[in-house]
Amino acid sequence: MCGIIGAIAQHNIAGILLEGLHRLEYRGYDSAGLAIIDDQGHVQRIRRVGKVKALHEAVAHQPMIGKIGIAQTRWATHGEPTEQNAHPHISEHIAVVHNGIIENYQFIRALLIKRGYCFTSETDTEVIAHLTHWEQQQSGGSLLEVVQRVIPQLSGAYGAVIMDACHPDVLITARSGSPLVIGCGLEKNFIASDQLALISVTNHFIFLEEGDIAEVTRHKVDIFDKNKNSVKREVIKLQLKYDNGDKGTFCHYMQKEIYEQPIAITNTFKNRFKYDSIYFSELSNADNVLLSQVEHIQIIACGTSYHAGMVARYWFESLSMIPCDVEISSEFRYRKSVVRKNSLIITLSQSGETADTIAALRLSKKNGYLGSLAICNVANASLLRESDLAIMTKAGIEIGVASTKAFTTQLTLLLMLVVNIGRLHHMHVRVEQKIIKALKVLPTRIEQILSITKDIENLAKDFIDKQHVLFLGRGDHYPIAMEGALKLKEISYIHAEAYAAGELKHGPLALIDSNIPVVVIAPNNHLLAKLKSNIEEVRARNGLLYVFTNIDTGFTNTDRVKIIFLPQIENIISPILYTVPLQLLAYNIALMKGTDIDQPRNLAKSVTVE
Ligand code: GLU
Repeated sequence: MCGIIGAIAQHNIAGILLEGLHRLEYRGYDSAGLAIIDDQGHVQRIRRVGKVKALHEAVAHQPMIGKIGIAQTRWATHGEPTEQNAHPHISEHIAVVHNGIIENYQFIRALLIKRGYCFTSETDTEVIAHLTHWEQQQSGGSLLEVVQRVIPQLSGAYGAVIMDACHPDVLITARSGSPLVIGCGLEKNFIASDQLALISVTNHFIFLEEGDIAEVTRHKVDIFDKNKNSVKREVIKLQLKYDNGDKGTFCHYMQKEIYEQPIAITNTFKNRFKYDSIYFSELSNADNVLLSQVEHIQIIACGTSYHAGMVARYWFESLSMIPCDVEISSEFRYRKSVVRKNSLIITLSQSGETADTIAALRLSKKNGYLGSLAICNVANASLLRESDLAIMTKAGIEIGVASTKAFTTQLTLLLMLVVNIGRLHHMHVRVEQKIIKALKVLPTRIEQILSITKDIENLAKDFIDKQHVLFLGRGDHYPIAMEGALKLKEISYIHAEAYAAGELKHGPLALIDSNIPVVVIAPNNHLLAKLKSNIEEVRARNGLLYVFTNIDTGFTNTDRVKIIFLPQIENIISPILYTVPLQLLAYNIALMKGTDIDQPRNLAKSVTVE
């Protein structure tokens, strides 16, 4: 995960590194560090436990001045988040920042210890620094040549930037699994895990490809592929805006992002309705010909995106009659699976950089899928670039680690995609028109929910001293129950589980007592009668019920049963609507518990390690 950045210029680059780290903090925030080569040719380093702010304050007290430097904001994989383990790691005059995992680090570490190297951290990263030093001592050569000998000895998925005080005019960067981008400037160049880190210094970017190693000086960027051949990668001009600005009147980015959902959903469908039909300008006629041949859909995703995929499965099968399977990327990629005839692989990821999902996509290319389609929220993401077809949600930048508007815009886009593919498979035009009509009122219905937040704030009080919460749903609302439980876990640290309500009596009913809240997603649809029986089962065991519904269920508000009324909505888009009160519930519980809502412990926004 973590964010790495490197810079080389004619002026002091410490400020650029720190500003970049702030923008990369969503990728990891347990510790941060920065190293520069000073005017005397020495490596100077500062590291701090905690967020980038702590590092920034340290640099304010102990100024760092240098024209070349590297920095990292960490999400620990190997070794606790301590100052010793924070990056950059140093071997004499060589300094390294690294994103990802070196899988064979134990073997290399043992070898280097035998060669006399002393390790000062528990990280896998430190082996890169010492191995680079060892290779340089053994066979010499330019820093590029040294790194070209080091990289084949490492296995795992990673991105790294390496700097050497003996070669203070060059940075070397290597991509193997984790994203890396080079920012090009005049008499200055930069490297980062994400272009957002660099948008205040350049708008010209080169996206490195798998296996690339680049030599970056002030004047030029030379790139070599994994066979050491010199290669040209396109310089792309991007007009990016970093809208982290202001939380305005909101207390947290997550809260702001929950409230942005009506506009994010509108932006996602805007310009995609044409003559009462759904239309994606990203899809050419040839793309639609490919989609018309689809006989099976395989959705691959992780976390919140996986829940969006689960809802889409109900939609694909019921509306377009195309068989659909959904699988967690980290399972799919290590399982021998049978590829169905004319199967389309759809990958979902907010960042488009989710390591397991990218790996699953790459695997699918070898396995004979008809094609691949990616849905992401970040322009130029690896998933978009590596897929045959790509469509973007238009949620705008999402900063809160717990995903909210990215999820509801994914659902919006998926429903539109179901219609687009369904039409190519003879879905009736009336169904399409009904869905368009429903989608158009969705933002207003969400606004209605956002205006009754007081009721949800009041409910939240009941949860703050609870250890466990159950969420129940049926049909296409079962994944929404899962998403509600995930939100609660992520930001309030309360253990929450979701069950398909019919499963209750197969085990989880044993958990019900007077102390465990049970949140039920109970929209007025064909499964309501079944769900009411499940509610009775909980009630009979003195459970504490919180029923989200839009109809008189026959249950009345009591001490042990609370009914939360939501607006009426077309059944087909009801999963999107029911997500919102569950986000608000989790948010308000976390607020009362005083957790770090935007950057919850142990998590990061873009999951670039497997
Ligand atoms: N594996 C390295 C560490 O634990 C890098 C982790 C990261 O990507 O932040 O320090």
